[in-house]
Amino acid sequence: MRGFRDIFAPQSDNFAELEGAARRVFALAGASEIRIPTVELKELFVKSTGDTTDIVQKEMYAFEDAGGRTLALRPEGTPGVVRAYIENNFAANSPVQKLFYIGNMFRAERPQAGRYREFEQIGLEYIGSAAPAADAETILILKDIVASFGVKNYSVKINSLGCPECRPAYKQELINYLKKDFDSLCDKCKERLERNPLRVLDCKIDGPRFVASAPKQKLCGACAEHFDEVKSLLDGRIEYAIDANLVRGLDYYTRTVFEFQAGDGAQNAIAGGGRYDSLVKSMGGPQMPAVGFAMGVERAIAARGEVAAKPQKKIFVISLDKTCNAKAFEVMYNLRAQGVISDGGLFDKNLKAQLKAADKAGAAFALLLGTDEMTKKVFTLRDFKTGTQKEIKFENIYTEVKTLI
Ligand code: AMP
Repeated sequence: MRGFRDIFAPQSDNFAELEGAARRVFALAGASEIRIPTVELKELFVKSTGDTTDIVQKEMYAFEDAGGRTLALRPEGTPGVVRAYIENNFAANSPVQKLFYIGNMFRAERPQAGRYREFEQIGLEYIGSAAPAADAETILILKDIVASFGVKNYSVKINSLGCPECRPAYKQELINYLKKDFDSLCDKCKERLERNPLRVLDCKIDGPRFVASAPKQKLCGACAEHFDEVKSLLDGRIEYAIDANLVRGLDYYTRTVFEFQAGDGAQNAIAGGGRYDSLVKSMGGPQMPAVGFAMGVERAIAARGEVAAKPQKKIFVISLDKTCNAKAFEVMYNLRAQGVISDGGLFDKNLKAQLKAADKAGAAFALLLGTDEMTKKVFTLRDFKTGTQKEIKFENIYTEVKTLI
């Protein structure tokens, strides 16, 4: 199916590596994992992601279940995490939460390089803090993940979209500005101009024409102060550029927004996020400020390059006779308890077939056990690289093998 893929080794190793890097960074920052359903009521995304967004308007996999409910495969993680935060009553018990998730998202976009219909995101939702330090920390957590995974050439853009105090005036100014060219706007932008003019600047068709010359947000005192503090906390810790044109595609952002980009292709965003101080309340929870990010796993892997993981050397255990199978199985299994990668066990096949399987499995060594070896209480170890063989006594097998890998 277009836009859906099977991911297997060695490609899947890159996913595991990035997930591992993220888990380490999250743990050091005191974040805990949240696992949420893949499917939610469609209404959740309409209300939170926003019904003026492309995601909701045309990219959701929505369907009716047998009970007549309209559900949707999650196109992003934030709405589900916020729903979980509200339903599990975190606000009353432990309002400040750094919740991270790793999971697949679904968007019916036109598939192309770097754009899939099922893709993975690693995200953080830091709920409960209005402090500029939370914005800075969120951005730095993302940086630490990207950097520790080994992405080198990326740039970071930040902006502030203001708040309900200062945004309405700007919104009106933008509407007036764009209205002058109303006839030239695409149909969707014509429709959303009045409700969300920022989305016009983010539109793939109309955005590029207006983004540079459009009026820029003038922040109120509180938003300017907030943004200044975020910047000063970032200074010296991460390189970034302020981009007054960065608007981001979702409806719920307030104040700080940011994007990490790699390369200059069309799908160059590896991650994005921002503050969303009104979302928890608008979804039926208490007034609770929050900030978060979502990183595209496939994009981050592409940005780093698919470095082939260098796995530990593998031992392939071969038995040459029925009477040797139990001992061969024992060593194959027990090597794993010693931290050695051991494979094999294809004891119903002949020697040639087992050696061929060892080669296909990328084994560095074969450990052979035949009737001669059983009598002498040794294994024969064959080194595929050098083509040499040597005998190892049964009692020394675990210590000797560990020196080879
Ligand atoms: P968003 O939730 O739209 O802010 O996306 C966050 C990140 O997810 C983006 O920066 C991309 O790296 C990634 N992403 C979004 N859509 C896709 C897609 N269709 N295929 C692959 N990655 C995506």
